[in-house]
This record gives sequence, C-alpha cells and structure tokens, in this order.
Amino acid sequence: MARRRFSATLALTAGLIAFPSIINVPSAKAKSSNSSFLVDHVRTKDPVVFITIDDGSVITDRVVELLLSRKIPVANFVLSEALKTHWKALHRIQRPGTSFENHSETHRLMSSLSLKEQTSEICRANEHVHGNYKKLPLFFRPPGGSHNSDTVTAAKKCGIQKIVMWNVEADQGKIVRSGGGSIRRGDIILLHYMNSLESSLKVVLAEIKRLGLRPASLRDYLAPAPLPVVNTTTLPQ
Ligand SMILES: [Zn+2]
Repeated sequence: MARRRFSATLALTAGLIAFPSIINVPSAKAKSSNSSFLVDHVRTKDPVVFITIDDGSVITDRVVELLLSRKIPVANFVLSEALKTHWKALHRIQRPGTSFENHSETHRLMSSLSLKEQTSEICRANEHVHGNYKKLPLFFRPPGGSHNSDTVTAAKKCGIQKIVMWNVEADQGKIVRSGGGSIRRGDIILLHYMNSLESSLKVVLAEIKRLGLRPASLRDYLAPAPLPVVNTTTLPQ
C-alpha cells in the first residue's frame, strides 16, 4: 500500500445548486471493509486520513496555494458545472495523489430518483469529469449521502469502483466525527469548496498533525489493484 507524505483535500461549493444545507454525517458501519462497494472510512494500520472536497462553487487562489504548498492529496467530488467553470483553478491542484471523482451531474438526491435517472446522473458526470481530467472517476459520492440499492446498481453500470461516503465532517472551525471523539486513522474527511474552506482546512491539518496522522491518497488505498498480467503461452492447453 503506497504511503505518501502528505495528502490533501479540497472541497466544495456554496450554492451552486440548491442542495441540503445540512449534510448528515452517516453513521459508521462497523461491517464496512475496504472490499465493500460502499465505504465511509478506510481500514488501515497506517497513520493516514483522507481529505475529500465536494461541490465546487468557490475555489480561491489561497486554497489552491495551501493545497500545493502543503502537498496535500485530495479526492475531489466536484460537480460538472463547477468543473467547467473552475477548471482553470482546479487543474492547478493536480499532483500525485489528487484525483477528480464523481459527485453526480446536478446534485439531486439519489434516493428520490429512479434507477434510470440515477444512472443518467452518474454516467453524465463521468463524461464531464473525463472531459476535463482526462481520466475516469473511480469513486462516486452521492449528494447529501442519499442512496439506495438502485444507487449501487447505477454506479456499477457507470463503471464506478466504490461509493465513498465519509465519517468526519469539517466546517466553520468545527470537526464532527460520526460516533464522536477525535479523528482516527482511516477516517474520510468531508469538506466543501466554499468560502470557509481555507480556514476549515487549516483546522483539519493542524488537528491531524497533532494526532500524528497525515493526509493520504484515497486511490492509493481504495482503488482496485490492477489485474495480474497473464502470459497465455503458459496456460494449460
Ligand atoms: Zn455535494
């Protein structure tokens, strides 16, 4: 499992699209493991956490500079419209460990949609991420954490490898962990690209440093291992 010195995060947007202002922190699922299709934390013995930044309405130069100067890997769940509008700023934060993932096309709550609509939301967002990032998303984060069994079916249809929730939310100087307590290794931290991101990020980075943790790349820990190359000439006839 690759270890990176630093990783980071980015997050979101304010008011791009009407979406619930309160995002529930999902309850930790004790049975969740890294092989589960839906995860809200990563099981690891490494002293790492994962910074994820959602939406994308406000992306400031100061945030870009912070992420770059601290070499923070971030899993970005930026909406298609924000990718289009802010790609000039967002593309600057690309570095090893930082990725652009899928947060749906229009930020509608998945559980309110049919399977067909959910599939359209996820597959269309894949196209937009690929259009800018030139790589396909591996992870999908449902807006507001809303999901049902059709979300799993739709995500798989669109080639998504995992649905990534979160178990820590940070904003306005506050860090809230599902189940309480301090941030722990393997936690997936949710932030948003909005005006408070810079200060929220600084609070999170100071806290994880205090706890002896470091940001790492989500893809390093959750992306499926490449299939082994099989030499067909050695296969039994
Ligand atoms: Zn969102």
